[in-house]
Amino acid sequence: GAMALALAACGGSGAGGGDATEGAGDGEAGGLVGVAMPTETSERWIADGAAVQAGLEEAGYEVDLQFAADDIPTQQQQIDQMITKGAEALIVAAIDGTALAGQLEAAAAEGIPVISYDRLIRDSENVDFYVTFDNYNVGVQQATSLLVGLGLLDAEGNEVADAPAGPFNVELFAGSLDDNNAHFFYDGAIDTLQPYFDAGTLVVKSGQTDIEQTNTLRWLQETAQKRMEDLLTSTYNDGSVVAGVLSPYDGLSRGIITALQNSGYGSGDQPMPIVTGQDAEIASVKLINDGVQFSTIFKDTRKLAEQAVVATEAYLAGEEPEANDTETYDNGVKVVPSFLLESDIVYKDNIQSLLVDSGYWTADEVASGV
Ligand code: BGC
Repeated sequence: GAMALALAACGGSGAGGGDATEGAGDGEAGGLVGVAMPTETSERWIADGAAVQAGLEEAGYEVDLQFAADDIPTQQQQIDQMITKGAEALIVAAIDGTALAGQLEAAAAEGIPVISYDRLIRDSENVDFYVTFDNYNVGVQQATSLLVGLGLLDAEGNEVADAPAGPFNVELFAGSLDDNNAHFFYDGAIDTLQPYFDAGTLVVKSGQTDIEQTNTLRWLQETAQKRMEDLLTSTYNDGSVVAGVLSPYDGLSRGIITALQNSGYGSGDQPMPIVTGQDAEIASVKLINDGVQFSTIFKDTRKLAEQAVVATEAYLAGEEPEANDTETYDNGVKVVPSFLLESDIVYKDNIQSLLVDSGYWTADEVASGV
């Protein structure tokens, strides 16, 4: 599954950073492509890097794949070096979507096309193309799964006729404010939940609904755990219970679940609240299989990597890649032509069909969580 790819990435030109002659390119196409990924602490980015590298090498390119340990200056330096080494194209998943203007100016001066990968690079003219998922819809799906878990929608997303009246206490988490995606996820989720807030079916008991209050810098698991602990102490010390938590990423979900478990949820007569997620990380898929986490969003990173490769090949053949969206992603300077992919909601009962049958994880991995 994805981990096999991940291991391939670690053995490749990953952390140590290869030089320009190290790639496995053997085709006529040749040429070095720089691939800048944010971090190896989340397995999706390892799998993304591995899949992009494999696809480019198969197409005959050399690859300089770098991970930046979620450190902005490191990522800036890595991209500077890719340009110095003569990269002919750049594929970049930014840590901070607004921090790469200088690098991109240098790339533009050399005529190097820049493909923004998964996360939109903002405030720069010099972003040529964007490959990503329909990020607003990811947020809609996260909120939908929360409503399904609370019994307010059925598995098809339709309203349940004799739905419980609630009110259900829910708490909301958002991602990192410097990641453009975090805003799209949150907007999609809030728009979906708003009618239930208005009707009083859902209540954010802490009152913390603004993204300025709910965001999680750098998407850190421990930050989410801490905030959930604080919410439990400040807001749920009066016998009231949390029924659901909107979480935009599996790492955050696991921190939230730990906080809930430490305060007695999921044992005795205190059921685990409905907790959502994103990325279908294996540890969370196991938790879903075990009935602890309720849902996640599967974004097939193999397909995203493939689109990045297709776009790179187009540029290096002197063509424009084909966009399927030319209006959604305004980066503050221009609307970046985009290729958007679709995502799926994972519940316990479709782990097999979505994740195992597609070869993303094996049944053994789902059972063991590694
Ligand atoms: C990605 C998500 C991921 C998050 C944290 C976002 O930009 O789109 O898939 O969960 O970053 O890494």
